[in-house]
Amino acid sequence: MSRPHLSSGALLPTATPAAWLGVMGGGQLGRMFAHAAQSMGYKVAVLEPETDCPAGQVADLHVEAGYNDPLALQKLADLCVAVTTEFENVAAPSLASLAQHSFVAPNAAAVAIAQDRIAEKAFFTGCHAASGVAPAPHHIIASPADIDALPAQLLPGILKTVRMGYDGKGQVRVRTLAEVRSAFADMQQDYPDMRCVLEKMLPLAYEVSVLVARGADGEAAVYPIAENVHRDGILFSTTVPASSMGPELAAKAQHAALAISAALSYVGVLCIEFFVLENGELVVNEMAPRPHNSGHYTMDACFASQFEQQVRAMARLPLGDTHQHSPAVMLNLLGDLWFEAGSDASDTPREPAWDRILALPGAHLHLYGKSQARPGRKMGHITFVAPTPVQARAHFEAACAILGLEG
Ligand code: ATP
Ligand code: MG
Repeated sequence: MSRPHLSSGALLPTATPAAWLGVMGGGQLGRMFAHAAQSMGYKVAVLEPETDCPAGQVADLHVEAGYNDPLALQKLADLCVAVTTEFENVAAPSLASLAQHSFVAPNAAAVAIAQDRIAEKAFFTGCHAASGVAPAPHHIIASPADIDALPAQLLPGILKTVRMGYDGKGQVRVRTLAEVRSAFADMQQDYPDMRCVLEKMLPLAYEVSVLVARGADGEAAVYPIAENVHRDGILFSTTVPASSMGPELAAKAQHAALAISAALSYVGVLCIEFFVLENGELVVNEMAPRPHNSGHYTMDACFASQFEQQVRAMARLPLGDTHQHSPAVMLNLLGDLWFEAGSDASDTPREPAWDRILALPGAHLHLYGKSQARPGRKMGHITFVAPTPVQARAHFEAACAILGLEG
């Protein structure tokens, strides 16, 4: 197959099935992407060093190699008309090298911003005028001397590592300068030379996220506001429509997400997380340059899922319809559910009571094929759809009761 020299943003022909699409990373997002791509007739190649992984199990080809392996990257680029990533910590140079031979979406520059909290906050601040939202007040801490210059009004706060943070990892809550010093010193032990950001602890009323799908032609489509509840720093549930947010603020958040995706010349699915403060103010928290856990509900509740949109954007096909056809509540299924309450991880795991869960109306179970359950590990999710938000919530709460969770 001969292909023109490709660079993101160039006007490229569409990539129709049964072309190959590539994914960097073998986790559950890659798995659900592969399902969507394959159902449209594409073939999927996954680059992932781990032998038994959620995406590798379903891909047409699993290239078992490191994410920076030059031969593996070459293989992916040779085979695939377009390549995407399912995790933001992929090395930007790997994406840049793929981009010499394949269409890469999202582009390496957007991924580089999203994987670095300092760059991300600077970017959000830079597009404040266009987006209408600013990030939380913060201060960069690269050395103990930066702690001396910390403005007192930023405390109490949260110290976050600049890189590699996810699911609340790499974060410590701090109240005093002494606590900042000791938390920063601890982080240097775990991650030598890691820069941090100290963010002011904000009074959150609730949290939302906005998914945007954007094509190479600049056409963009935004999903409804998703309202998210986190527990122990990990997403617990997503409710759509968001019950807490009025139409005016919802429009503001959607406008901000579209403006941010345009400022990045983004191609593919982008998720932006926002805080809504007790005084009603909207604050932009962070972005994920990929389909997102809070968008899993789209698989069962929207005309086109976030994964289908990623396929369409990569293949330079028209975007799908982001409208929601059914109210939905999504519950994340963490590995803790595989253990009796009060037991510890050394006990033998057992399957949750799927028969009782699936007897609930509108239940859609998605398991990621992970062979080992561990506390805090995302094993799957379940989405309840119903004719009304009240019914979807009732079935979600019934599932929580069966699983021994507080709804
Ligand atoms: P993710 O899994 O979304 O990638 P993460 O580890 O990158 O998470 P954040 O999204 O920055 O981390 O923070 C995790 C959660 O901690 C937020 O969803 C929010 O509940 C809380 N949080 C973070 N920053 C603040 C803040 N400045 N003020 C109040 N709460 C915060
Ligand atoms: Mg987050």
